[in-house]
Amino acid sequence: MTDLLTTGATRLPVESDAALERIHRLESLLGDPDDPDNPLGLRAVLDADERGELLPEGERALARFGLGAEFVPAALGGRFERADRFALLMRSLFRRDCSLGIGHGITSFIAGLPVWADGSAEQRRRVAELLCGGGRVVAAYTELDHGSDFARVSLAARPAPGGYLLDGGKQLVNNIGRAEAAVLFARTDDRPGSRGHSHLLIDLEGLPTGRAGRSYRYATSGVRGCLLGGIGFEDCPVPADTLLGQEGGAMETVLKVFQVTRCVLPGVVVGVGDTQLRTVLAFAGERRLYGGPVSALPLSRSVLTDAFVDLLICDALSMVAARSLHLLPEEASVRSAAVKYLVPKLLQDNSYRLGVLLGARSYVRQGPYAGFQKAARDLPVVALAHASEAVCLSNIVPQLPRLAERAWRPALDRARDAPAAPETLFRLHDPLPELDFSRLELTTHGADSLTGVLPALADELAREAAHRPEVAELAALAAAFTDELADLARRAGSLSPRDRTLVAGRPAFLLAERYALLLAVAACLGVWRAAGTRDPFLADPLWATAALRRLAERLGPRRDPQPEPVVEALFEELDGRRRDALTFDLFRTGLATRAVPAKGVDR
Ligand SMILES: Cc1cc2nc3c(=O)[nH]c(=O)nc-3n(C[C@H](O)[C@H](O)[C@H](O)COP(=O)(O)OP(=O)(O)OC[C@H]3O[C@@H](n4cnc5c(N)ncnc54)[C@H](O)[C@@H]3O)c2cc1C
Repeated sequence: MTDLLTTGATRLPVESDAALERIHRLESLLGDPDDPDNPLGLRAVLDADERGELLPEGERALARFGLGAEFVPAALGGRFERADRFALLMRSLFRRDCSLGIGHGITSFIAGLPVWADGSAEQRRRVAELLCGGGRVVAAYTELDHGSDFARVSLAARPAPGGYLLDGGKQLVNNIGRAEAAVLFARTDDRPGSRGHSHLLIDLEGLPTGRAGRSYRYATSGVRGCLLGGIGFEDCPVPADTLLGQEGGAMETVLKVFQVTRCVLPGVVVGVGDTQLRTVLAFAGERRLYGGPVSALPLSRSVLTDAFVDLLICDALSMVAARSLHLLPEEASVRSAAVKYLVPKLLQDNSYRLGVLLGARSYVRQGPYAGFQKAARDLPVVALAHASEAVCLSNIVPQLPRLAERAWRPALDRARDAPAAPETLFRLHDPLPELDFSRLELTTHGADSLTGVLPALADELAREAAHRPEVAELAALAAAFTDELADLARRAGSLSPRDRTLVAGRPAFLLAERYALLLAVAACLGVWRAAGTRDPFLADPLWATAALRRLAERLGPRRDPQPEPVVEALFEELDGRRRDALTFDLFRTGLATRAVPAKGVDR
């Protein structure tokens, strides 16, 4: 294969990265979104949404592509090798249609994880074969009676001759009505405590008649095509070999493998933000007010460039989080919660601001900008799925005091043994070791080598600023964020005993939120620092400084807008990418749009 993949600065020979080649292939398969005759184009996607169905041509195309194999580790015959590349692949699909992204499979990815982590060789083989062959396995966790309170999940799996008897139900489970298998989170012990639940891998097609029903569909406001359904069991026998992992071990497994999904999903959802920004940018260039395009109005230009900078922040944080699953898995418990909290939040804030800019067309369900309203409806649903903002922050809160003591204070004291992330964490094209599920931990035990890079980088930048005026503001911002970290460490250390638990009060949640913002600062600085010469835009302090300014605005100490020359430079980059059909993320990858296909996809 001699195809080349266009990125902003360089043309990467795709043989060097098979995953990038597949992303390119998927993008080509999805084709031009603006072509009304494209069966996978935006028109078809919107029509399917209006009908409340998953685009049938889309499902067929993804089956031909073999999307299911992307969810299966390479060691088991699939194509999953790197969490960061997987997020980029799914991002392509989410740029086009969230419903297809969720409906055709990302929940199969979620369901596969406990199997890869805990399953027997036979269970792994079966699920790998099922997914590689185009089948589905669903993750059945939710009970509307209990929501995120997993410890109270009540669907019972009672011991019975030859296996278990299932009693109870699950709701809001994606694809439950048409999947071949399910990973079921069930109560196997009535005693209180964390060892009351087990995972069962059940064959949905082999259930005895009359003992299980799975027909109900929940209609949703966003991702309308998705088939969220329910299942109910009544004294339903399943064999003993359905048990996945150890009896009583499901809670621990869930808390570990959800770290993987929480690191990956935000990187996927960046695609929705890209589509929204692309739509509104096109509108702002075409719509004329007061004798010029809307994009010439300074306020509009700021909204557009702020959304661009926030997308870069989201990408830096989600890529670093995904890469850290491979490089620093023992630290993932807190990082995964932070990225799953912050990225959807930034995207949703921009969805609102871009919607205001788009005006009436932000809610009109037809015409050239109708993709926006669908994305704006899909985004909050997708952001809520799996773990809400509050749930993510509540996972960070109990870990704050130990992080302050063991990671932040040594880093702030410039202690020789202070943990600092390896540079490869930030080099987005560097190879990664295999993801080792056995290295995931329930807590980080106070380790946080990502935030640890902040004081060290601030020192480096301060020295550099003396002879490089273009990094002076970045250095000043890095120093201000280092002071923020010191303040956070002080406050985290003095949290009351109640504020160190899941039922903590608002002040503790605010600290967790500030921590997530500081992680984003460290990720942006790290990615900028490690960019090298491959992509001049990424190596330019322009975007990193703009990113830190945006984050400073959120943290509170500074509320300065971006200076006008910065807005102009960012707008030029943004609009250039639109014209050249390149993504708005850190990768500047070619898109298959009609406007300039030869530039976007080089053959
Ligand atoms: C598109 C989509 C697909 C889905 N697919 C699946 C699937 O395939 N399988 C599946 O099992 N489920 C699935 N779900 C369900 C999803 O996982 C649930 O929406 C989720 O578990 C939240 O449950 P809940 O809304 O009942 O929230 P609840 O837990 O009832 O939360 C209520 C409120 O309390 C807040 N809250 C919760 N805990 C805390 C805390 N500790 N501190 C402070 N506030 C807190 C929440 O943020 C929320 O505001 C899907 C959902 C969606 C939207």
